[in-house]
Amino acid sequence: MRVYVAGHRGMVGGAILRKLQARGIETLTRTHAELDLTDQKAVTEFMAAERPDAVVLAAAKVGGIQANNTFPAQFIYENLMIEANVIHQAYAAGVARLLFLGSSCIYPKLAPQPMAEDALLTGTLEPTNEPYAIAKIAGIKLCESYNRQYGTDYRSVMPTNLYGPGDNFHPQNSHVLPAMLRRFHEAVQSGAPEVVVWGTGTPMREFLHVDDMAEASLFVMDLDRAAYEANTQPMLSHINVGTGQDVTIAELARMVAEVTGFTGEIRFDSSKPDGTPRKLMDVGRLRDMGWQASIALRDGIAETYRWFLDNAAELR
Ligand code: GDP
Repeated sequence: MRVYVAGHRGMVGGAILRKLQARGIETLTRTHAELDLTDQKAVTEFMAAERPDAVVLAAAKVGGIQANNTFPAQFIYENLMIEANVIHQAYAAGVARLLFLGSSCIYPKLAPQPMAEDALLTGTLEPTNEPYAIAKIAGIKLCESYNRQYGTDYRSVMPTNLYGPGDNFHPQNSHVLPAMLRRFHEAVQSGAPEVVVWGTGTPMREFLHVDDMAEASLFVMDLDRAAYEANTQPMLSHINVGTGQDVTIAELARMVAEVTGFTGEIRFDSSKPDGTPRKLMDVGRLRDMGWQASIALRDGIAETYRWFLDNAAELR
């Protein structure tokens, strides 16, 4: 058994790679410099030469609300190309099993909460990340279409907002949790009296530690085909992964302030976008299959902050 992990330098791909290796499973990786997944010819040659037994598709162009708003063409183009190349060439090389990683932003902006898998394609998407969401929806539909036409066993998992060691802590382009950890940390360092948090503080978000996500991914991959198919449908095959609990951005800011030791003022800048008001996952499908998240948010934030401090010198 040899598993190709696409995107192993990313936060999730890295966590999945570590778990596979800890289980003694042989893995196959290529850095971005060695293999550009948007290059059809390069992916064709790679898959044909290596013929892995299974593929984890964790490679993606990702970013927070501002990055999605600033680089929409890159988000739709790069993600569509990566998915089309990897999924099609995996099929062409006879790869029986593949796991595609998506995102909770595939669901409509105003989907009923918590969002179940069948909310997909029932309404208008959140405009700030629509191009990324369309690409991720295309990835699910690629997997389903290849399963239906060619009999492959390509599965999809949709994580809620992820965080943890290996995250991107860029001040402008990262997601909210790493951005806050960095900003609050820097305020403590400089003795700044206040920290600015984007938006109104009222949106609600659910956060899943990347090690929980990696566990869930391997759990879904390991399910035998009958168990996967019994809990999904051919044209509704993706599985939500989350904790089932969310917090407001203001609550999150208070937690980050506590963890980093910031005691000053938190100011909300409502000229920045809030994005979707709430996106809590309905994780019933995965729970019924036998998996639940185990890392509490506060513990996960503290651990991520320690990682940030230990790796501050070589952050992305
Ligand atoms: P989203 O879940 O796709 O909206 O992505 P983000 O993680 O980028 O943003 C989540 C929420 O946190 C949004 O309501 C943002 O406005 C808010 N937020 C507050 N401060 C920040 C920040 O410094 N960076 C980011 N990315 N979001 C922030």
